[in-house]
Amino acid sequence: MNLQRIFCIGKNYADHVAELAPLGHLPDGDCVVFMKPASCVVPSGAPIRLPRGRGEVHHEAELVVRLGAGARITHVTLGLDLTLRELQTRLKNKGAPWELAKAFDHAAPLGDWREYRGEDLQGLEFTCHVNGQLRQHGRTRDMLYPVARQLEILSQTWDLGNGDAIFTGTPKGVGPLNPGDHVVLGSALTGRCEWRCE
Ligand code: ZN
Repeated sequence: MNLQRIFCIGKNYADHVAELAPLGHLPDGDCVVFMKPASCVVPSGAPIRLPRGRGEVHHEAELVVRLGAGARITHVTLGLDLTLRELQTRLKNKGAPWELAKAFDHAAPLGDWREYRGEDLQGLEFTCHVNGQLRQHGRTRDMLYPVARQLEILSQTWDLGNGDAIFTGTPKGVGPLNPGDHVVLGSALTGRCEWRCE
């Protein structure tokens, strides 16, 4: 079944919140929520076509869960919440929506789905390597809003179910991608997925 909606959780790891806003704040209520159209997905192994001439495109490596009936988690993988960072900052400063910076074509590279069998989603480690260099090493126990809490929050607004996926937030280490870069995401639970940028 194809995805219909991609929900994204922002500001979910304190170390990433701090790197974007050294004097910034921790979330004080519900987490930041935004969406990307499902047409943003780039499957593992396909080329990522980066936007050109619009400032830095940052990788945000994230655990991604897919839902089935009754908002039950059926599959997990890793993905990239690609972000036009300078544009996002300008939009944030204007109080404007983030779609231009977060929902462009190819903004959601997504690994192959692995069936979820009840593993502890708050006990995972995952990595993002760019050209062989470690950029991000996330530990899901560091989430400010654990996955179960994210489901509660999203369920207040949407009937979650088949066709829904959630990008669960990124740890520190985000940085720019450039044409020619090779990105590899990996974790013990989800295996490895990779993309070449162009
Ligand atoms: Zn993100």
